[in-house]
Amino acid sequence: MSDEKKDIFTRRGFLGTGSAALAAAGMLSAKVAAAQAQQPYPAKEEGPKPYPTKDSRSASAPGPGNQVLDEQNPDSFLPPQTDAGGVQTFKYPFGISHKRMQQGGWSREVTIREMAISKTIAGVDMRLTAGGIRELHWHTAAEWAFMLYGNARITGLDAEGKSFVTDITEGDLWYFPTGIPHSIQGLNPDGCEFLLVFDDGNFSEYETVLLTDWMAHTPHDVLAKNFGVSKQSLETLPKKEKFIFQAAVPGPVAADQKSTAGSLGLSPVDFAFRTTQQAVTKRTKGGEVRIVDSSNFKVSTTIAAAIVTVHPGGIRELHWHPNADEWQYYISGSGRMTVFATGGRARTMDFQAGDVGYIQKTLPHYVENTGTTDLKFLEMFKSNFYQDLALSEWLTHTPSQLVLAHLDIDKATLDAMPKDEVPVMPK
Ligand code: MN
Ligand code: MN
Repeated sequence: MSDEKKDIFTRRGFLGTGSAALAAAGMLSAKVAAAQAQQPYPAKEEGPKPYPTKDSRSASAPGPGNQVLDEQNPDSFLPPQTDAGGVQTFKYPFGISHKRMQQGGWSREVTIREMAISKTIAGVDMRLTAGGIRELHWHTAAEWAFMLYGNARITGLDAEGKSFVTDITEGDLWYFPTGIPHSIQGLNPDGCEFLLVFDDGNFSEYETVLLTDWMAHTPHDVLAKNFGVSKQSLETLPKKEKFIFQAAVPGPVAADQKSTAGSLGLSPVDFAFRTTQQAVTKRTKGGEVRIVDSSNFKVSTTIAAAIVTVHPGGIRELHWHPNADEWQYYISGSGRMTVFATGGRARTMDFQAGDVGYIQKTLPHYVENTGTTDLKFLEMFKSNFYQDLALSEWLTHTPSQLVLAHLDIDKATLDAMPKDEVPVMPK
């Protein structure tokens, strides 16, 4: 094999090859396969068989393939030797979900229909232009949100009928409980994009109570009687739902707050959370974690979250969550995660910005930064509190003779392990 051909199949060469070279790789791989076919099979090997490497005959993939997808998923192209058995797929990229296009923005969702494993949480990625409105609505699931880009104004009405209006910027959160009506509108200079997280994997953005949809399906004489206005004055009501639509950018937030307060005054409930004003919960050499749950964001009674940064080469340590499934959203960087699914089964998958990951309650996992920039991702749980346990804290808070009898390591190695939870270990 020439060095050039060999380089394509080594990990570094494979990942570093440009798209033009990758396009040609289909032809090259056929040549490589032909060259390999002429080599005699090795004599019967003694001892344990080595695990295939990328440039070995056993790992070659001369048939049809998507080189760009393979490049993004090296742990699917050649799984680590420790992977085994059938593990339900726990990755879905927003990039291949259906985009619902409207004037004023769009939305796309990852629910149990896109990702069968995600029973407890569904997510929506939504874009609104400056002035673009996600119309007044509510739903049967509660909504937790993270602002990914830009600025928005959100409105809501609390259970006492009091108004809530505030402006949200990148990194901020909001939470609207089941049945609480709300709206979102993009602000200057370029609107917003945000992630919505619902506490039900079966949720769909297509099944929400919309103001315009409701009005379009109520007899106009009933509406006239309800509002004490003439039927003629309601003739211009929309004939069908608007969902997302373009409107003018609203004025100052203070003016909206003043006009909506009425005789009751504004809501004492804060449906928003300014993550940027919160102290980091845990910071290590390897990265940092911010935890947001009902202990510091009171209204968020069904979604707990961790906002995680892992520096290059670092790892979100081996751990598990006793209380809930984990729904992940990757914001930036690249990483890989292995989920150990019991009974000798394990699967490793690779993640990039815009991907969704999912881990069932109690299953062990880690997230490793495999790139050269910070890996940022969100962990969400259907729970009012965040909870995790780490392998290191388990092993160092168990009698050492008991641990040594299991792992066949020496005492010095055990003593060198972190004594307490270190959410993000450095390189
Ligand atoms: Mn909503
Ligand atoms: Mn986790």
